[in-house]
Amino acid sequence: MNQICKQKMRTELLNFLRTETCIICGLSAGDTFYCRSELLRLGVLQNNECNLHLNFLRKNTCRSCLARLPFLFPENTWNFEQSSLKFKSLFSYREPINHLLLNYKFHHRKDLAEWFARLIYIAWHQYWLKNKNEIVLIPIPLGAKRLRQRGFNQAAEIASLLADFADVKYLPELLIRQRETKRQTETKTRANRIANLKGAFMINPQQIHLLQNERMKDKTIIIIDDVATTGITLIEAAKLISKINLKVEAMVIATEHELIKPKWMFS
Ligand SMILES: [Zn+2]
Repeated sequence: MNQICKQKMRTELLNFLRTETCIICGLSAGDTFYCRSELLRLGVLQNNECNLHLNFLRKNTCRSCLARLPFLFPENTWNFEQSSLKFKSLFSYREPINHLLLNYKFHHRKDLAEWFARLIYIAWHQYWLKNKNEIVLIPIPLGAKRLRQRGFNQAAEIASLLADFADVKYLPELLIRQRETKRQTETKTRANRIANLKGAFMINPQQIHLLQNERMKDKTIIIIDDVATTGITLIEAAKLISKINLKVEAMVIATEHELIKPKWMFS
């Protein structure tokens, strides 16, 4: 057995004994002290309803990893370039979030869906998710082929858990991807990206009646995806909702946009 294998086994054994392991670095979590300082900046400790989520986070994230998460200011909402679509992002697309998202999507780390969903809930419940009767969550759909390859829709996993935590309406099959598209990372220019996504989505004809219901007029449809770079995927999906005169916004886990955040929050 080589040195690396021995080390890996040792780490796994230690993790087993500790039982509370950081989802990011694999070392021990469960340090109660850090929660006060780190989670205070999310403005969540005063809300007792959140304890379940805080406990989950404490057991699954060590103090140093939590301290270096690139959170964005939870109250802020931005617009994509050349679009009026508003969106929120929990994180900036930087370490360790970029790696976690790649692991989540391409290495089948489905356990991370819960971690992301609980973090969104903790960070946003008092800013965005409190108006639960006015919100409907929908995920960006995957094409059938991509879904088969990956085994799960990364946006839907998070959206479904978040809908549960926040007790908001969730319509997982409202949007359909009617043709396979290239990954956005495989397209070079903005024009190529727009062409790649054009007409990629449609509203599920069996569910359109849900949107035409009179009560939907006061609601905001929130489209959820994992990452937003140019936002073209979200903009294309949002157009379909806007066409039927409903309010639509977007939420993502991370964005590559340069975003302004107040210094006091992250010092
Ligand atoms: Zn850690």
